[in-house]
Amino acid sequence: MNLLIVGTVAYDSVKTPFGARERILGGSAAYCATSASYFTDAGILAVVGEDFEEADRRLLEERGVDLAGLTTLPGQKCFHWKGEYGFDLNEARTLRTDLNVLTAFDPVVPDAWREVPYVFLANMDPKAQAKVLDQVEAPRLVAADTMNYWIENAREDLQALLPRIDILVINEAESRQLSGEANLLKAARKILTWGPRSLIVKRGEYGVLAVSAEALFAAPGYPLENVFDPTGAGDSFAGGFMGRLASNGTADADAIRQAIILGSVMASFNVEDFSMTRLAALSWPEIAERYQAFRRLTRFEDL
Ligand code: AMP
Repeated sequence: MNLLIVGTVAYDSVKTPFGARERILGGSAAYCATSASYFTDAGILAVVGEDFEEADRRLLEERGVDLAGLTTLPGQKCFHWKGEYGFDLNEARTLRTDLNVLTAFDPVVPDAWREVPYVFLANMDPKAQAKVLDQVEAPRLVAADTMNYWIENAREDLQALLPRIDILVINEAESRQLSGEANLLKAARKILTWGPRSLIVKRGEYGVLAVSAEALFAAPGYPLENVFDPTGAGDSFAGGFMGRLASNGTADADAIRQAIILGSVMASFNVEDFSMTRLAALSWPEIAERYQAFRRLTRFEDL
């Protein structure tokens, strides 16, 4: 196992202007691992309830995702998130969050995974994220996500986590909230002084901005005509990004750029259908073709 992903495996009830679905497979770790599975051996550390469906377990297994870290809590139910999007698909409105199994989530890294080289800490309590890092030996690269809730309610724990990670992957509004700076570049520079080597700012359909002390890189979102459900875009981005770095074995500036584009490729597929319908059924030629389409989209000649 090359990439440990800790996060949620959830049921989502999602409404977009293009349709609605009840209790479909979701969760940060499920999206991230499905996406990463095209590039590397990924494993999920998460909890589910007794209502976790066999078909959903099979979907992850068929993608080759290692589920040795997926624990079923007897008598309990899966984390459930209900949300909706208006025509501005960049903004999810949370209608309901049923924590269920998450209230009891105490991540224990399986012994066989303790020397895992790549770690992605999906959005969750920064104390739990730190606890996962306490249990891995000497990972080569650690990236983490977070959200407004933890910035507001667990700032100290989050701040303590930052020096322990290499890359922070957060969205635009969160980077402003965390730093207290309105300007994105100033926000990024300030967050970098708190620990991470790079910051990847997700900007929804507008793409991502990656900032480190040495380099700046901007990638657009892939222009799509059919976007059905943006849920999981951030996590499928993180899966493609980390999966590629994990299979590459290097994280120099060029490798990071390539990984950012592959992350963007995976996110662009993910939003073309609900749940993991599109993301779980891709072929390598499709991924490679969209990677080339990204190159064509952003190429221009020297003056
Ligand atoms: P994103 O990639 O940001 O669209 O994340 C989507 C996934 O995050 C959904 O499938 C949800 O199940 C999950 N999610 C929503 N709210 C939370 C939360 N408070 N904590 C952890 N995961 C969440």
